[in-house]
Amino acid sequence: MTKQDYISREDRYGAHNYHPLPVVLEKGEGIYVWDTDGKKYFDFLSAYSAVNQGHCHPKIVGAMVEQAKKLTLTSRAFYNNVLGEFEEYVAKYFGYDKVLPMNTGAEADETALKLARRWGYDVKGIPDNEAKIIVCADNFHGRTITIISMSTDPDSYKGFGPYTPGFVTVPYNDIEALEKELSDPNVCAFLVEPIQGEAGVFVPDNGYLKSAYDLCKANNVLFVADEVQTGIARTGKLLAVEHEGVRPDVLILGKALSGGVMPVSAVLADDDVMLVIKPGEHGSTFGGNPVAAKVAIAALEVVKDENLIENAEKMGAIFRSELEKIDSEMLTLVRGKGLLNAIIIKPKNGKEAWDVCLALRDNGLLAKPTHGDIIRFAPPLTINKEQIMEAVAIIKKTLLSF
Ligand code: PLP
Repeated sequence: MTKQDYISREDRYGAHNYHPLPVVLEKGEGIYVWDTDGKKYFDFLSAYSAVNQGHCHPKIVGAMVEQAKKLTLTSRAFYNNVLGEFEEYVAKYFGYDKVLPMNTGAEADETALKLARRWGYDVKGIPDNEAKIIVCADNFHGRTITIISMSTDPDSYKGFGPYTPGFVTVPYNDIEALEKELSDPNVCAFLVEPIQGEAGVFVPDNGYLKSAYDLCKANNVLFVADEVQTGIARTGKLLAVEHEGVRPDVLILGKALSGGVMPVSAVLADDDVMLVIKPGEHGSTFGGNPVAAKVAIAALEVVKDENLIENAEKMGAIFRSELEKIDSEMLTLVRGKGLLNAIIIKPKNGKEAWDVCLALRDNGLLAKPTHGDIIRFAPPLTINKEQIMEAVAIIKKTLLSF
């Protein structure tokens, strides 16, 4: 089959809910992927930061295979010998009393919303069905009906109403707007991405998260951090909130919690919040299954074993400073933290970020535009300096070719 055959088959039989870059991948290892013609690429998307540990990491895949041969799924109707190991490991790793495992990021976000509302009723004493959750403009938390009800992006919500009520939107990075809404006694939580990834790697001002956290505390409101994309070493800290010394009341993790091997997500909180949900009130058939449990432990061990936090911090700093040296009128801004970065592209001769990504692909580097003019660069965190320099040379050569 040719590349076009693969693309046409997806187009013919698959729903058209994505617009992929035309490249057909069949193999991945570390920071590289290969297409069906054997051409090798730097992967500078890392499956939207799920593959932080690198593609097909042998330790993670090994854990998966070993557990898959023994026991894959019991459901939560019964205990098994691995779930508790995962729960203890993850709770201690991130410093929380308890963890609630789910599968996708969206499910973990939904879980956090339920947890926050129930806490609002049972602990804060909000009247029934009156709880409000403050969210940020330009957020991205997934694709369920409730989550798109919180979205300000018409591509996400338009044509999918009626929407779930109970959300109040404030501009991101605007402390005054947040403070105003927090005084409403029916507010139970503030849900925030420490860096808005899908919005185009929008980094808030220094101090924003800390001030937001302090205001939440002052108003008896839960600070809920969606670290699905920013967490697990991506920004040069284990969690992006650590850049401001914040410890969320509720922490949402996904993506790299499995190193991109399978869907594993989780919500973490202390007992005073987590125990408001009682048996039978929430769950998922696959959430915390034995394979996911072993995979997540291995994925988190790799982050420690291979010093991915320090590496993301160091490589990210080099990457941004090298990108800033590129003298191209198309490159108007470089921003990011650790290895979660983006550039903003000014169109030239009718060529836009999409065309830049096609040319990057031809030159051996895969990245995807977002919102028309932004290109996110988020390689696996195992990348070394030599590889960063090689990737920067490709980006430079590509930008200068327009
Ligand atoms: N939350 C954030 C911050 C995300 O970036 C994403 C996905 O990009 C999600 C939630 C949704 O995760 P999933 O696609 O696994 O449902």
